[in-house]
Amino acid sequence: MKNILTPLILLLSLNMISAQDEIKTQNGSFTIYFVGHGTLYIEYNETIIHIDPWSKLSDYSQLPDADFILITHQHRDHLDAGAIREIIKENTQIFAPSVCKEGLEEFTQVAFLKNNDKLQTTFGELMAVPAYNIVHIRDNNMPYHPKGEGNGYVLNIDGKKVYVAGDTENIPEMNELKNIDIAFLPMNLPYTMTPEMVSKAVEMIKPVILYPYHYGETDTDILVNLLKDSSTEVRIRNMK
Ligand code: ZN
Ligand code: ZN
Repeated sequence: MKNILTPLILLLSLNMISAQDEIKTQNGSFTIYFVGHGTLYIEYNETIIHIDPWSKLSDYSQLPDADFILITHQHRDHLDAGAIREIIKENTQIFAPSVCKEGLEEFTQVAFLKNNDKLQTTFGELMAVPAYNIVHIRDNNMPYHPKGEGNGYVLNIDGKKVYVAGDTENIPEMNELKNIDIAFLPMNLPYTMTPEMVSKAVEMIKPVILYPYHYGETDTDILVNLLKDSSTEVRIRNMK
């Protein structure tokens, strides 16, 4: 009996790689839902924060309506008006950089944030931070993500700081991010970072937990290996 059960239990535990993680905070907890690629949402005390909702990944009519929608930039895997239409309600607040103006034209509840803008929300402090390429550029010499256009976001939720980097490389501004508990860093090539670049970013940010995300076909094992002696815990979730 034991011999039959062992592989079965192994199989079950493999399937249990979670689609959501609960994170303890000072006074309670919040839950991160991993939708896929560069897309996630957070639930904290019945407040729902969607980040880069994309209907290619999920049926947004089945997901909870948004209190907040954070958009990092205008690329179609990040800004999808169709997904927003499914989750927007009367008092939803959308935050985005102004490069998203055209894609968000139909919505009125938008505040455009520049890099380094900071504000208080009902879930806590929100800061927009830079997200751009230095090394990875297009044939016409333009970076895939030019400096100053896109935003990453740092959310301070009941004492826990969550950094969702957006499409970026390991930029020097990451040195200024302090006390990050959770970092989402992108690893999809050629648009964002190689595993080596993510590892360098981790050296700057020193998050307690790292979720590589937006990783496409990049091998997450390479990153896990690079960070095997790091104090950062690397959590792999289904964020291709
Ligand atoms: Zn992009
Ligand atoms: Zn992207």
